[in-house]
Amino acid sequence: MTSSHVWLPYRQMKTAPPPQVVERTDGVRLYLADGRELIDGVASWWTACHGYNHPHIRAAVAGQLERMPHVMLGGFVHAPAEDLARRLAALLPGELDHVFFSESGSVAVEVAMKIALQYRFNRGEPTRTRFVSFRHGYHGDTFMAMSVCDPDEGMHQLFGGVLPRQLVLPLPTTPKLAAEFESAVAAHAHELTAVIMEPLVQAAGGMKFHSADVLAQIAQVARRFDLLLIFDEIATGFARTGTMFAGEQAGIAPDIITLSKALTGGTLPLAATVASASVYEAFLSDDASRALMHGPTYAGNALACAAANASLDLFETEPRLQQVAAIAAQLASGLQACRRLAGVRDVRVKGAIGVVQLEKSPQLDALRQRFLAHGVWVRPFGDVVYLMPPLVIGSDDLARLIAAVYDVLVEASAAGEL
Ligand SMILES: *Cc1c(COP(=O)(O)O)cnc(C)c1O
Repeated sequence: MTSSHVWLPYRQMKTAPPPQVVERTDGVRLYLADGRELIDGVASWWTACHGYNHPHIRAAVAGQLERMPHVMLGGFVHAPAEDLARRLAALLPGELDHVFFSESGSVAVEVAMKIALQYRFNRGEPTRTRFVSFRHGYHGDTFMAMSVCDPDEGMHQLFGGVLPRQLVLPLPTTPKLAAEFESAVAAHAHELTAVIMEPLVQAAGGMKFHSADVLAQIAQVARRFDLLLIFDEIATGFARTGTMFAGEQAGIAPDIITLSKALTGGTLPLAATVASASVYEAFLSDDASRALMHGPTYAGNALACAAANASLDLFETEPRLQQVAAIAAQLASGLQACRRLAGVRDVRVKGAIGVVQLEKSPQLDALRQRFLAHGVWVRPFGDVVYLMPPLVIGSDDLARLIAAVYDVLVEASAAGEL
């Protein structure tokens, strides 16, 4: 593939080993062009929650393709978008009732931040333009999204000098940090519009977990200082943490939520920014300039909405939450053995997320090649090896993923790669 013209994501194109060519997918398996077959422990960046090529989603997309693949939402609307928005509003907590569609998670975050800024402009609070976010957080690769990612550990350190300055704080996980969090928010409240965070699991920033109590604490401070609360559930949404949405575990309804990744079950790109009635109402006016001036060309793509509606059908008709509970139990018992290995600091599990925390960043390319040799697709990053398989994975396949993690860590340790 040395002659490829594809510039791949997150990749040093000069030195990284050549990518695998995938020809076909089915269930939890990836079939490579060279004839090999891999069990998928990543679910294509956590999207393929029902496994690949689920017949119900395929049929829904094929049917929609016959009728209408796409039509602009400027002046039009259609049943797949109407249905999906109504169903998301019904599924989401509180008064999260107004759904703005885009095509990627980063753009959903941009839209959430734009809404939080314009909410202040529309209410005559034009100086409240900054955001609170958290260390180890990740919210996407576009510019406003980068500004609320971890500024040091994240992938965007290089751009620090050109990004808006946000208030990026440690998560208030101890009484001391909670006091510091509250005083930082108090000191800056006059210039802050919103808190943005990934509830319960900071995923791409290091697979770090925090408790529902921490979430409740943050929500309480946000309310006290009249900040909007934005939950970025792009990674955690759709059952991954054991409930449909992570925020449910703290009984908290944010003012804005962002969704993407598993929204279409890994079939088509789609994202949603969902706002509460009171946020939405700040945009209603006889003055046209109060409107939200945002409109991705492919907003509410009908094929993607059909896939998402079919994915929601599957959450209603197939036992995903029970499957997540079973995966959690198997990950917790199966990954235990890794605790004893040299170079391993910690093992943790939340829902269908299993994490082996290493002492330091390993030789990632070498580790990834070892997983391939074991016939599994596991893609460690930073200082973590993690499993986030499709939620439909059977216990035998999950056992093979878990065994591969153990075996690869043993081999890598012996080879001095950890
Ligand atoms: C993946 C992710 C994003 C960005 O989504 P893209 O579709 O890759 O732009 C934003 N926030 C969180 C929490 C994510 O996991």
